[in-house]
Amino acid sequence: MPQVIDMHVKADMHIHSTYSDGRASPREILIYAQYKGLAVISITDHDTFLGSVVAQRYLRSIQEDLVVIIGNEVRTDEGDILLYCYEPIDTPRTLEDLVDYAHSNNCLVVPAHPFDLFRLGIGTAIYEFKEWDAIEAWNASANKGANRKAVEVAKEMGLPMLANSDAHIPEYIGTAYTVLEIDELSVDGVFKAIKRGLVKPHYGYPPFNLVAKRFLWSIERALRNH
Ligand SMILES: [Zn+2]
Repeated sequence: MPQVIDMHVKADMHIHSTYSDGRASPREILIYAQYKGLAVISITDHDTFLGSVVAQRYLRSIQEDLVVIIGNEVRTDEGDILLYCYEPIDTPRTLEDLVDYAHSNNCLVVPAHPFDLFRLGIGTAIYEFKEWDAIEAWNASANKGANRKAVEVAKEMGLPMLANSDAHIPEYIGTAYTVLEIDELSVDGVFKAIKRGLVKPHYGYPPFNLVAKRFLWSIERALRNH
């Protein structure tokens, strides 16, 4: 039986692994997350749940006090959407179908960096739906203007705000995070806290040396893919 508690924990729910364009393996991400004092993470690789599935499997074997949410950053026809699910599901490519299908499978649906148009945020399509479970109001890899606008719109729409790192190198993990007020350190406990809006985003950006490191990683990747 899960331990019944009432506590505040740190969550970074937008991280990339080697299953898409991240540098760290799911296992390395778990180690970094613990080092950064996070209790909840989601590995949200592009169009795949695999990074988080592998992390969850590994976690079970080491039994650490960390919750890994099964996640995916899905590229829809309107832009990028974060899904948080109990288990992997199919991911329709039109935004409308994705929102419906994900909700019918009890997933949480959250627009990623919605106003960062360079990074394929959904922009004003955010207003087409009322049923977002939260908004990624702060993304440590997005520009300030985009984050400011996302915070404003989340407030206007009365939606819970998440802050995430969108880490592509492990050192980025936890540079922005959300404090969740949970009554149980479990996937259910995390979902409940987000749905009830028991979340407090902590706005942060990585220091310049990490930004440079991240930039070098994107060049290294581009060269590898040639
Ligand atoms: Zn991302």
